[in-house]
Formats: sequence, structure tokens, C-alpha cells
Amino acid sequence: MYLSKLFIPITKSLPSEAKIKSHQLMLRTGMIKQSSAGIYSWLPLGYKVMKKIEQIVREEQNLIGAQEMLMPTIQSSEIWKESGRYDDYGEEMLKIKDRQGREMLYGPTNEELVTDIFRSSIKSYKSLPQLLYHIQWKFRDEIRPRFGVMRCKEFYMKDAYSFDLSDEDAKKSYNKMFYSYLKTFDRMGLKAIPMAADTGPIGGDLSHEFVILAETGESKIYADKNICEINLNQYELTDTSLQKMREDFTNIYAVTDEKHNPEKFNKNVKKENQMITKGIEVGHIFYFSDKYSKPMNCLIDDKDGKKTSVKMGSYGIGVSRLVGAIIEANYNNDVMKWPKSISPYDVVIIPSISKNNRENLEKAEKIYNELKKQNIDVLLDDVDENMSNKFKKHDLIGIPYQIIIGSKSEVNNFEFKELNFKSEQLSLDKILKKLKS
Ligand code: ATP
Ligand code: MG
Repeated sequence: MYLSKLFIPITKSLPSEAKIKSHQLMLRTGMIKQSSAGIYSWLPLGYKVMKKIEQIVREEQNLIGAQEMLMPTIQSSEIWKESGRYDDYGEEMLKIKDRQGREMLYGPTNEELVTDIFRSSIKSYKSLPQLLYHIQWKFRDEIRPRFGVMRCKEFYMKDAYSFDLSDEDAKKSYNKMFYSYLKTFDRMGLKAIPMAADTGPIGGDLSHEFVILAETGESKIYADKNICEINLNQYELTDTSLQKMREDFTNIYAVTDEKHNPEKFNKNVKKENQMITKGIEVGHIFYFSDKYSKPMNCLIDDKDGKKTSVKMGSYGIGVSRLVGAIIEANYNNDVMKWPKSISPYDVVIIPSISKNNRENLEKAEKIYNELKKQNIDVLLDDVDENMSNKFKKHDLIGIPYQIIIGSKSEVNNFEFKELNFKSEQLSLDKILKKLKS
């Protein structure tokens, strides 16, 4: 893509409504545009990043055997009345009426809808376990939407649901998701810490929030530093290994403030390992047994032919929130650097151009075509402005690699730079190798 053709409304001034870096940066680089309080349009650059995040989430869900589906955003109130949440959910639920006066709502989550789908078709333990997920917009009429895409009214979420015969089986599904979440965030270059959490309006007794450390986070957290040292590669996708994994994580103190116990914290965690900081919740998993299946009469035949309520869990990842959270985690000294796995482009070519000198642009176009042939997603900055402005702009956009074509360029070598590192002169072959590795 040529930068001059890209719809990327970069603004020079700092948006006054934005209090935190990620929100400022997303507005400045034209990733999003607010349409009304807590509701955003995703412009090409922001949308591209979000889609990359979505794809990683999808791949990791598929790897543990979860099946993708798609449920609608608009739901009927009936099923919510069955579960008792139509009144309990509170002001965050956006209620609407269709032209026949039927009560509908914009789904804030999907436990009821998926339970309804499940009960209409699955009748026997033989079809269990099942893990279903979708990636869909949600609406919660947040009282105080803020921090851009981090807390908004309309947001994009992956939500998965597990169905099992027994508590014991359900915990195996829970462990799989726990593992999948750690891998998902790791692929995005994030260290997400699983923390014992309250279950809130979803209900149930087993729940973990996945939190990344960031000063601008809304959750206060208390943790033993050692939890960051656990190596995920030691676990495999088997029930025993994953049970051990969950025990390894949950044996180390890590909680959000609702669950914090100062006495236990000081007794169990050495002073030098105590971490008291803030974090951003990027995922949340719950095991709530028959909390929805029982009132909604979602029954299956067990091995003896007896009817029993199916045991359920639900598992959410804030896909759109992650875009902001990843910026918070990676922004440093006025430079944004996307992790390679989700960067909007793999590399940007920055030629020094002026009205009388088109030579560098021609060189840049040659390299551009070569990289395109190799399936590298490349941006060419063909805009006619001085190099120092260009560099400032690319420090904001955050593409991790740059090929700079200016005074330092040699005949067959080009200046190649990884953001935050020194540049080096490399041949196109070597650059290709680096980008592909
Ligand atoms: P929070 O405590 O931040 O309000 P929650 O506990 O209500 O979130 P869940 O029901 O656990 O949210 O939703 C799953 C995930 O969806 C969260 O971990 C978060 O990443 C994301 N999410 C929830 N609410 C919002 C929101 N208002 N804006 C953007 N993302 C959100
Ligand atoms: Mg939550």
C-alpha cells in the first residue's frame, strides 16, 4: 500500500478528550473515530490491527477444539426472562422494541442464547463435551465510557461456552481455555497474568481474569513476581498436564483488589517479590456449573438415562480492548512499536523525496514490488515531506521495521532499521531474510 493512497487521517494536535496514551495515539493515527460517546468507527489502520488480533484468538481457540459459530447481536428478551437476568442485569443492558412491540435487546453477552441453541439439539451425554465460540460485537451501556476502545459501549468480544456432563469434565474444559488464553496473549507479545477473580453478574464459583500490567489499568493487582516466570512450553494439551498447569499458576499469589487478603499476601509472598500495581483485564473465564442450564431447563441424559442439567462455563476475550491494551504495553518514549504478529504492516519503506529528485522513490518502488512478490505486507511512504516529519509520523504508527532510502543509501545496500535499535546497511536479500524469519 502507498501511504498517499491510504485512508489514514493523521492529526498533528493531541486530542484533548484523550487521557491515556493508547486513546491519544489511536485518534492521532486515525485508527478509530468516535461516532458518539463510547461508540467508535474502526478506520482502515485500526481495523487491520484488530483483525490480526482476532485471527490469533481464532487460531488458538481452534487449536483446543473450540468450534466457531456466529450468534446475532440482537436477542429476544424471552430467554433472559427464563434465566432471570432480564431484570438482574441492570442499566448496562440496552433494551429495544421492534415494530410489533416485542422486547429485544442488544446482547451484552451470550450465555442465554447459546444455552437455548444447545438445549434444542443436544440431548445426550454422548455428544459432550462441546466448546462453542463466536467473535461478535457486544453492547453494554457503560455508565462512564472512557479510555477510547478500552471501556466503550459497543465492543468486539470473543466469547466461548463449554458444555460438560460433570463438574470434573467441566474443569477440564476450563483448563483448556486457561491454557489457550495464556498462549493467545503470548503470541501478541503480552504477559497476561491469570488472577483469581470475583464472578460478578455471570455467577459461579471458579473464575480467573487475565490481566496485563499497565499503569493506566483500572484494576489494582497484588501478585508474586514468580508468576511471570512460569514457562508455558512445559505443558501439553492433555488433561493431566493442563491440571498441573492450572495448579502451578493458582498456587502463586495473584489477585485483583476484590480478592486481596493483605495478611495472606504478606505471609506467603517475600517482600522483594511483592508486586502491587495496576493492570488491564483482557480476558475473563468463568465456571458456573448449572447456573443457566437449570433455570433454562437445559437437560441431557447421563450414562444411566437420568436427566441432568448440563455443566457450563463461559470465556471472554476483549478483542477490541486488546488493541488499546497492546499500545499501553508497548508505547515508550514517544515511540510506538507493534509486536510483529499484529503490526498493521510488516515493514515501511521511507524514501527521501523532493520535487527534483525522484530517484529514491524509484528505488523504493522497486523494493516495494520485490517485497510484495514475497508476500510481505509493505507500506511505502511516498508522501512528499521532509524526513524528520516522516520519522516522527512512523514513530507514532509503530510499524516495527523500516527501510530508509536517503543520503546513506549505497548502490545495492539499504538502511534497515528495527524501531528502538540502530540501523544497519543490508542487501535486499538479507532484508528479506530478516523479515521472513
Ligand atoms: P470490566 O471488569 O473491565 O468491566 P467485565 O468483567 O464486565 O469487564 P467480562 O464480562 O468479563 O467483562 O467480558 C470479557 C472481556 O470483554 C473483558 O475481559 C474485557 O476484555 C472485555 N470488555 C468488557 N467490557 C468492555 C468494555 N466496556 N469495553 C471494551 N471491552 C470490554
Ligand atoms: Mg470481567
